[in-house]
Amino acid sequence: MRFDVITLFPEMFDAVLRYGVTGRARERGLFEARLWNPRDFTRDVHRTVDDRPYGGGPGMVMMAEPLDKAITAIKEDQAAAGLSDVPVVYLSPQGRPLDHQRVLELAALPGLTLLAGRYEGVDERLLARRVDEEISIGDYVLSGGELAAMVVMDCVVRQLPGALGDEQSASQDSFADGLLDCPHYTRPEAYQGQAVPAVLLSGHHAEIQRWRLKQALGRTWLRRPDLLKRRGLSAAEQELLQE
Ligand code: SAM
Repeated sequence: MRFDVITLFPEMFDAVLRYGVTGRARERGLFEARLWNPRDFTRDVHRTVDDRPYGGGPGMVMMAEPLDKAITAIKEDQAAAGLSDVPVVYLSPQGRPLDHQRVLELAALPGLTLLAGRYEGVDERLLARRVDEEISIGDYVLSGGELAAMVVMDCVVRQLPGALGDEQSASQDSFADGLLDCPHYTRPEAYQGQAVPAVLLSGHHAEIQRWRLKQALGRTWLRRPDLLKRRGLSAAEQELLQE
C-alpha cells in the first residue's frame, strides 16, 4: 500500500515511519509513504502557504493553490507508478468519525492520499474540488492534521496482511469481532497481592477461550453497550454473559 501525505511538517511522520509495528511494516515493504510539503508548490520567495481569512476573524487559512498543485503532482506520481483513483482524504474535525469498519475498507485500497491541515483549516474551494472524503479522529480539535493522518496510517497498516505476527493478530483486537478485547496478564503470577486468574494458568485451551470471551462480552456490556446493541449476541454468548 502507498500513502501520499501532504503536510507542512514532514518530520513528524518519523513517528509512524520509523517506530514499532508500523516502522517494521515499512522496512518489510508492506507499505511506502511519500511526504509532500505544500511549500514546495509555492511561487514566492517566502514560500507562503497561508493567508488571512476573508471576512476577518482570527487565524490564517491554508491557500488553495499550493495544495492544488501538490495534489496534481501526487496524482501524476501515482499514475506513473500504475496507481489510479487513489482517494484524497482531508483530516478534519468536521469529517466522518473514523471507525474499525472504515479502517478495514481503507486497508483494502492500493493507496491513500492524506491532507493534513493547519491553522484554521483549508480554503473551502480546494476541499470542494480535490478532496473525496473528510475523516475525523474524534470530537475534539487538534492543532494540525498530522497526528490524525498518523492515526489513520497506524490503524490501517495494522490491518495489512503480515504487519502483525500471528501472536498479535489484529483479529483478536478490540472491535475486530464487534467486542472489546479481554484483559491481559503477564509475569509475575502475583503482583502487589493480585493473582493472575487461575484459568489462564490451567493450560486448558478451551476453558481459556471461554473465559476470554466471557470477559470480552462483560466489559463490552459494561463499557460500550452501544457496540453490543449493534452487533447482537448469539444464544451461547447470551448464556455466557448471564453466568
Ligand atoms: N477551524 C477548524 C474547525 O474548527 O473545524 C479546526 C482547524 S484545526 C486547528 C487545524 C487542522 O487540524 C485541521 O485543518 C485538520 O486538518 C486538523 N484536525 C483538527 N482536529 C481534527 C480531528 N478531530 N480529526 C482530524 N483532523 C483534525
